[in-house]
Amino acid sequence: MIKIEREEDCCGCSACMAACPVDAIKMLADEEGFLYPKVDKDKCVNCGKCDRICRIKNPVVEVSKEQKAYLFQLQDKKMRLDSTSGGAFTAIASAVLRNGGVVFGAAYTDDLRVIHTYVEKEEDLWRFRNSKYVQSDVRNSFREVKAFLQQGRKVCFSGTPCQVEGLHSYLGNVDKEKSLILVDLVCHAVPSPLFWEKYVAWQQERLSSEIGNIRFRDKRHYGYKYPQMVIEDKAGNVIYHNGVESDPYLRAFFSNLSDRPSCYECKFKKRYRVSDMTIWDCFDVGLKAPNMDDDQGTTNILTHTSKGEKFLHEILMSTDRIECIDPDYCVKGMWELVYSVSKNNWRDEFFKDVSSNGMEYLIDKYFPDTSVIKAKRLLRKTLICMGIYGMIKKCIMIIRR
Ligand SMILES: Cc1cc2nc3c(=O)[nH]c(=O)nc-3n(C[C@H](O)[C@H](O)[C@H](O)COP(=O)(O)OP(=O)(O)OC[C@H]3O[C@@H](n4cnc5c(N)ncnc54)[C@H](O)[C@@H]3O)c2cc1C
Ligand code: SF4
Ligand code: SF4
Ligand code: SF4
Repeated sequence: MIKIEREEDCCGCSACMAACPVDAIKMLADEEGFLYPKVDKDKCVNCGKCDRICRIKNPVVEVSKEQKAYLFQLQDKKMRLDSTSGGAFTAIASAVLRNGGVVFGAAYTDDLRVIHTYVEKEEDLWRFRNSKYVQSDVRNSFREVKAFLQQGRKVCFSGTPCQVEGLHSYLGNVDKEKSLILVDLVCHAVPSPLFWEKYVAWQQERLSSEIGNIRFRDKRHYGYKYPQMVIEDKAGNVIYHNGVESDPYLRAFFSNLSDRPSCYECKFKKRYRVSDMTIWDCFDVGLKAPNMDDDQGTTNILTHTSKGEKFLHEILMSTDRIECIDPDYCVKGMWELVYSVSKNNWRDEFFKDVSSNGMEYLIDKYFPDTSVIKAKRLLRKTLICMGIYGMIKKCIMIIRR
């Protein structure tokens, strides 16, 4: 029976819950807002399935294999703008849907919680577009994937590397070869749903209109290289936007203050993965393919399987822009692909405050709008107005590599 002794040893993938034959496992939130399995001992029949399925207890050995790498830009300008980077996910998912398949991804509920769900029509794919920097609740998705595969449907599942490995493990011997496409991301880390809820409630109160949508990485104001947290009302009007150095939620995320404990010791960050392909941001497109650098977003795609490679050929036939590059060059300097983020020294105190204080208190203590923050904001905007922000970011990329 699954027992979590250290919080770092559970990524919350929900594979154990899906695998339990007697539904003895529920995923329940702890005081930080992260989901962990809780076993109903009266129901448990001690079959051991949950322990066997867990990929933290039974890690996959990383084996080097042939890979191919691509840079991708969706031709549809609006969909690309709505996507985090180049819109590769939309292209992959659309190809699956056109073949009568089903696509799983992370979407908002009506009250802006983040959950995994599925769509069967291309016009519903907008729900998955743009990264939501909060841990999504997988709910019953793994069992739904299995049921669709058993009906002979094509399925694409997208998620964090731990969710994808969890699903892969749960599916076990189910025939994955013909019908399943697994797409994972380069994953910095996932923040707490409880902190996200507090942030949304705080924004809802201070903005006079009801929130319709939130995009963590909007490119409409200052381009792809200086994305904004954007909040829209129900009519689609922008009622808030703020950059990564200023917005309190993004400040917490990028300073590794609000992450799940397992993200600080991530077992799923590696170059060779169980997924068919990994997608991530191409901020260094100016170095990799200068002729593609239009500041509207480009996705890196790294394929891990011949199935993923074969599948991408459907996209290669499309009018979208895709360029093949050397995989070693593609992953160079991409530290988040392989290394965990470092825990912020204030993290534990921060979460004590999250569970007992309001957002105003958290902002005063952890994210004040100091003169340094104001100066950073002004500098970014000035460099953008002068047209040299991109060039400076490019120099930083060269140093980072
Ligand atoms: C939590 C998180 C951390 C990330 N960290 C990095 C990073 O450090 N470096 C980097 O280069 N890229 C990172 N990415 C990936 C990046 O943000 C883009 O998702 C990627 O560039 C693909 O963009 P796209 O334009 O092709 O697709 P998009 O249209 O942006 O598609 C988004 C895809 O992400 C999935 N998704 C969105 N939110 C979540 C979530 N909360 N949990 C699981 N799946 C989700 C959707 O289902 C969809 O498949 C991260 C993404 C997430 C969700
Ligand atoms: S990592 Fe996943 S399978 Fe393992 S205990 Fe946590 S939720 Fe269950
Ligand atoms: S040991 Fe078997 S029955 Fe008990 S919780 Fe785990 S999977 Fe369920
Ligand atoms: S950092 Fe690792 S453990 Fe955390 S969500 Fe991403 S893949 Fe999962």
